[in-house]
Amino acid sequence: MTDKFDLIVIGAGPAGYVAAIHAAQLGLKTACIDKSIGKDGQAAPGGTCLNVGCIPSKALLDSSKHYDHLQHTYAEHGISADNVSMNVATMIGRKDKIVKQLTGGISQLFKANKVTFFHGTATLEKDHRVTVNQISGDAIELEGKNILLASGSVSIEIPGIAFDGEYIIDNIGALDIDSVPKRLGVIGAGVIGLELGSVWSRLGSEVTIFEALPEFLGVADKDIAKLAAREFRKQKLDIKLNTMVKSAGVKGQQVEVTIDTKDGEQQLSFDRLLVAVGRKAFTEGLLAEDCGVKLSDRGQIEVDDNCLTSSANVYAIGDAVRGPMLAHKASEEGVAVVNRIAGKHGHLDFNTIPWVIYTEPEIAWVGKTEQQLEADGIEYKSGSFPFAANGRALAGGAPAGMVKLLADATTDELLGAHIIGANASELIAECVVTMEFHGSSEDLALIVHAHPTLSEAVHEAALNIHKHAIHRVN
Ligand code: FAD
Ligand code: AMP
Repeated sequence: MTDKFDLIVIGAGPAGYVAAIHAAQLGLKTACIDKSIGKDGQAAPGGTCLNVGCIPSKALLDSSKHYDHLQHTYAEHGISADNVSMNVATMIGRKDKIVKQLTGGISQLFKANKVTFFHGTATLEKDHRVTVNQISGDAIELEGKNILLASGSVSIEIPGIAFDGEYIIDNIGALDIDSVPKRLGVIGAGVIGLELGSVWSRLGSEVTIFEALPEFLGVADKDIAKLAAREFRKQKLDIKLNTMVKSAGVKGQQVEVTIDTKDGEQQLSFDRLLVAVGRKAFTEGLLAEDCGVKLSDRGQIEVDDNCLTSSANVYAIGDAVRGPMLAHKASEEGVAVVNRIAGKHGHLDFNTIPWVIYTEPEIAWVGKTEQQLEADGIEYKSGSFPFAANGRALAGGAPAGMVKLLADATTDELLGAHIIGANASELIAECVVTMEFHGSSEDLALIVHAHPTLSEAVHEAALNIHKHAIHRVN
């Protein structure tokens, strides 16, 4: 017998599980299928984000931050400790516990919201039928009025540099290293390379990051990227720009890496090599040949602005489709699709999706960078404020960084907000709200900000657009 649903969601990452819960809340009879298996052998809904992405990386970033501060910054508070050590197994165990708590939480939420969960691999067949090869061994068939594909992404492998899970690793391996490697090589100075490189550097690894491009963090605003490069170099992250990794291979217990620089080829040796050169849509086994869903040249599921695929009532969201590979983009895209299926309005403005890099200092931005505005020929005004002039940042020992705001020269509408500094990930939220409501820099400047808070730097940057900042010479 074929079970029938209003909506079948394939994949329970932040795209799929949020969409499934929202759909059930709106009264749709909803099924969600996911194949992930946790370290305990049980179903582990939550996708890359909860299992091997956002959450475990932040757990290790926090653990390593405490270790780093204990060694380098607590002394100025008068705190000293002898024989500080890091038990890597305890740190990894703590991370695993958090992951288990959260994936278990999703199973609970599915039950509470009456989402029917199937643990297995799903394939979309013709006519909205979905076959599920369950982990338990039985195969079943479902039928959906609507289908939502949320199959996510996997790491890109460089041809000839195959992951072996031990020496040449991706994020999955880098979140589970059992001892601090003396030398860690990282290919790619993107978000994942910088975050995971920071974790192991703080724990004592000599970290070298290879980046093929000549410019550091080209996606970020140029002033923020410049400051970030300076801060990371202070932390002894050795970032080699203009450096292409050509090949790598394991010899004994070392990874031999060949790099191509402007001075020619060079050989280097590492204890581990993290390959963090981006991610690609994952669709293996997802689509039967006659299901009617098309892929793009890049292997992403092709969708229109409403996330509709080339097949009627079949939608796709998250990392499997175009757009930024971010958990919150994936979730909000799912909510928008479900709203449309339920006859409501569904909306997602890509321009107001915040980006965050959880290094120290954190980096967060929303909207346009200065270089994008220049390229688009948009007249703008800029206002900035350094955390070194913010009382709370000084009291908290976090004077590095700044807030930079960009506003339309004529209308004063906020066009971009760029923050590097402590808690940038949280501070960016008020800029997102302002931009979502098409607010101006004057709006931000007129809002009362609590004192003393880091958010006063956002306030001052807004005031500085009109050269009215109080705590800096304008
Ligand atoms: P996924 O999370 O990849 O989920 C897809 C799920 O579908 C998986 O569980 C997969 O097993 C399952 N699946 C696929 N095919 C099938 C099938 N045929 N049948 C059944 N199940 C299937 N983003 C942020 O916003 N903030 C961060 O701090 C952040 N940190 C990150 C750190 C790292 C190290 C990495 C790797 C990523 C990070 N990301 C972060 C990105 C974020 O994880 C992704 O953007 C997000 O997980 C995408 O969600 P998704 O649901 O589209 O896909
Ligand atoms: P992201 O896509 O943000 O994760 O960043 C990945 C980074 O890896 C990009 O900045 C690429 O330029 C960089 N990259 C890709 N391939 C190589 C390579 N073979 N050697 C060095 N850097 C690379």
